Amino acid sequence: MAESSPCGVCRIHAGAPGAEMEIHRAGLWLLRHHPLPAPLPGWLVLDSLRHVGGPADFDAAECAGLGPMLQRCSALVRDLSGCERVYAIAFGEGARHFHLHLIPRHGADAATESWRVADLYRQVAAGERPAAEPEAVAALVARARERTAGW
Ligand SMILES: [Zn+2]
Repeated sequence: MAESSPCGVCRIHAGAPGAEMEIHRAGLWLLRHHPLPAPLPGWLVLDSLRHVGGPADFDAAECAGLGPMLQRCSALVRDLSGCERVYAIAFGEGARHFHLHLIPRHGADAATESWRVADLYRQVAAGERPAAEPEAVAALVARARERTAGW
């Protein structure tokens, strides 16, 4: 789909604002950082390149490919952010196009615990809480591009 697509994820893939956060695109998947304002540095999003709603509608190649890609991307979030664990959440509400949020869970930061991370997300979106520093996000994206260049 093109930049004029009604789908926000397809528009980003076609170069709309948010495309500057792309980290890696290969095969069936596109990995990007959450657009600015980002809730946390290292909050990545793994998209299917194909406009498909979610795993229930995946084709055989997407089914086989998601596991290995999810493992690599989650390990990348952990390595880049220094978090202990990585949450993986896909709602598919903002766009009916598979986009899996990979969220760093820092043990020392209670605001990233379980569903509290949804409160954090809304507070950043509403301007009630500072977003991740754009410079920190840009540096993380640059390191992520280096790390994924060989994928
Ligand atoms: Zn789409």
